[in-house]
Formats: sequence, structure tokens, C-alpha cells
Amino acid sequence: MSIDVASLTMDAIASGLRSKEFKAEEIAQAALAFAEAENPKTNAYLTFASERALAAARKVDAAIAAGTDPGPLAGVPIAVKDVIVTRGVRTTCGSKILEHYIPPYDATAITRIEAAGGVLLGKTNCDEFAMGSSNENSAYGPVRNPRALDRVPGGSSGGSAAVVAQGTAVASLGSDTGGSIRQPASFCGVVGVTPTYGRVSRYGLTAFARSLDHIGPFARSVRDAARLLGAMAGKDPMDSTSAAAPVPDYLAALDGNVKGLKIGLPKEYFTGLESETGALVSRAIDALKAMGCEVREISLPHTDYAIATYYIICTAEASSNLARYDGVRYSRRAEGADTLGEMYKKSRGEGFGAECKRRIMLGTYVLSAGYYDAYYLKAQRVRALIAQDYAKAFEQVDVIASPVSPFPAFKIGEKVADPMAMYLSDIYTITGDLAGIPCMSVPCGDTAEGLPVGLQIFAKHFDEPTMFRVADAYERSRS
Ligand code: GLN
Repeated sequence: MSIDVASLTMDAIASGLRSKEFKAEEIAQAALAFAEAENPKTNAYLTFASERALAAARKVDAAIAAGTDPGPLAGVPIAVKDVIVTRGVRTTCGSKILEHYIPPYDATAITRIEAAGGVLLGKTNCDEFAMGSSNENSAYGPVRNPRALDRVPGGSSGGSAAVVAQGTAVASLGSDTGGSIRQPASFCGVVGVTPTYGRVSRYGLTAFARSLDHIGPFARSVRDAARLLGAMAGKDPMDSTSAAAPVPDYLAALDGNVKGLKIGLPKEYFTGLESETGALVSRAIDALKAMGCEVREISLPHTDYAIATYYIICTAEASSNLARYDGVRYSRRAEGADTLGEMYKKSRGEGFGAECKRRIMLGTYVLSAGYYDAYYLKAQRVRALIAQDYAKAFEQVDVIASPVSPFPAFKIGEKVADPMAMYLSDIYTITGDLAGIPCMSVPCGDTAEGLPVGLQIFAKHFDEPTMFRVADAYERSRS
């Protein structure tokens, strides 16, 4: 029997397993074969975890045969961004410096997904240490957008967005520090969710900028994304910043009823948009109005400072987090150095790509004596103002809607020579990370050229249920 992995939903998998239409092992085999065959087109997977996938699937089949509950993600093929550690499965972080790194432990998100019956298919390509907006900073080559192979899939979780768009995985995990889940979701036409900071444990997520890093799901529907988040979320003793707040039943929130909900449109987020992006986002907002939402303009006055603030804070944290890759422990060691100092220099010089080096230098600079107050401390103060903008806006509205990116997927190579132009890809996404609020991208149509565009929805801290309700109602209105 041939299983069409590209059209499977989590509900279809659950009912097919229940009715014995197929076994989890058959889904895993089909998904692995399909992913391996498709991968040369996109370069989205870096490593396949075939043995681990088949073992997990057999466990699900055994649970079903024994009449026990195989879990909410039973048999679901899930790909994982290569910055999330997986025991026994190579984890490169898109970097040469970790080319041969085989982690001795699993991230909590992975442990929870497998406990829920999920099947880890493989690891996906990404920008080196999650630094980038196009996946062109990977040491293992760029990923091609499955919707337009000459274009980027977005970044830094480009591989994770691409595999879901391509249909080789039913869902995937990415990480978001400044937009790296929502922007590639928007560029590839899939759903991408950045949960509230602390909602999903960061244990086992390789640190880029810890005060901003999030793990979150990609899926082909809001429903699947909500289910995957529900399986990962919740307090973890291994991450002291993980939140103790109870995890609501996200699927229960998807009742289609958005009547009377107040949606804020930040006026600062609708300037500088490419016209087709603007038109598609406006059409999505009209659809929400037609379902009974009340729409009003709001202001997030500190938006102009977001990019500068983000690049000071994230580089400061990155310069410290990347210090551990010194050639002494698990990272690559350069040959032919005579002294310890030389060995550090050579190993790091050879191992890191240009963007990591740029950020280490910038981050070291903003933290150095004499500049700390002028840059880092000031950026932290502005970060508080950005968070306050949202808090004030949420006194008037339930959710906020905006574009995800000012433009759709651009051509491979188009922005590599101009880091500032690249950084602007994240102008509408980074404020969500700086404020720590949940936000997501839901597809809202394609441009005339067939390039997907995403609608972004932000909600209050821990109010993922309302965010999902709005996104799901909108998604239903399109089908
Ligand atoms: N593109 C942003 C950056 O380069 C965001 C990256 C991310 O969210 N990991 O830092």
C-alpha cells in the first residue's frame, strides 16, 4: 500500500492507525523513502534518523496492539531543526564547528514528542547557529524553497519550513529568536508558531540568545500546530525559565467562534510593504471582519528601534554562548596549532562562518567596558519599552494582526551581500520575541507569481488559545 505522506494530517494518521488502515511503521517507512527521494531538490534535511524513526513507530504499533493509548502524536512523522539536540543523532547547528557532534542527550521537546508517540524523521538544515533570515548562512549549503526552487525558504529554520511545505514531514520543529519560525513559515506557505517565552523548555536547544530563544512547531494546519505545541509545552525542571502555568487544551480553543474579538492593527506595521503582500494581508483582515471581529488601529510606537535593539541584545548573548566552541570539548579542533591560544584561534577561525564571526565581534564590542552602558544597557531599556507597547495595546484588543515580512521569498543570493537588507526581513517579527509574547504565521494567499504570504497574529502572554482560535477560524474561512 502506498501512503501519501504529503497529504496526511494528524487526525488522518490517528484514525488510520485506529482503524488499522496502516501501521505507524508503514507511515515511517513511506515518509523516510519520500524524504530521501525529494531531498536533493531542496537540501532541507541534513541527517535522516531512520533507525530511530522506525523504532519509535514500532513502539506505537506495539502500544496499539496491546490496546494502550499510543499518545496524541502517535505515528506522526516530525522533522527537527538541527539546533535541537538529539541523542545519538548528529546535531550540527548548521555549522562546520559541530560537523561530527553526536549529542549524548535529548532536548526535552524531543523526549516529550516521542513520549506522545511522535516519530523523529531527521534533522533539518538551518542558518548557522540560527543566525540568518534565508538559510544561506548554513555551512551545508542553502535550502531551496519548495514553492519556487530559485528562492530562499526564509530562515533561520528554513529546512523545517521547507519539509512541511514539500510534504515530506507532517510537522516539524524550529527555533525562533527574532522571527526564524514565522518568517520561513510565511515564505513557504505553512503554519509556524512562536509560543510564549518559557512555554516550551529550551533544554537541549542550542543557545543563540537565551533571553529570546523559543522552540515552536511548523505544520500544514493550525490544528496540527496546536496539537504539537500541546505535546511539548509545560514546566521542565531542566529549564528554570520554563513556565509553570498549566497547559490549556489548545484543540478545545479551535471552535471557530471569533465574533466580537477585538483585533488591533499596528499602524507602524503597514508601511513599507510590497503592494501584493499588503493586499493579501488586508484581504485576510477583511475576512476576519466578516466573521464578526472588530478591527481597530493601534500603535506600537517603539517599533523603529526594534532591529537595533535586537541586534545588540542577540549579538551580546551570542558572543557569550558561542564561547564554548573552543576545540577542547565537543567541537571541531584545528590541526597544527602549537599553543593553546593558537588552537582556540585556529579552531574557531576555521569552524565558524562569516555571520557567526560578525555577531561574535559585534556582541563582544557592545558588552565591553565603556560600551556596555551605551549599547547593551540601553538596548535592554528599549526592550522594556517595546514590551510595554504591547502591554498597552493589549489593554484595548485581544489579538494583534500584521504582515510577517514586508516581502515574499526572495531569490537565492539576492540579499547575501547586504546584511542590513537581510536584517530588515525581520522587522515585523522581532518585536514579538523581544516582548516574549506568542505569535504565529498563518498562510493568507499567494502573489501572482505564486509566492506564499503569511498573516501574523500576536496574543497576550500565555494566550495561545485565542491566537489559535483566530488563526484557525481564518484558515477555515479560506477552505
Ligand atoms: N533572522 C534573525 C537573525 O538573524 C532571526 C534569527 C532567529 O530567529 N533565530 O538573528
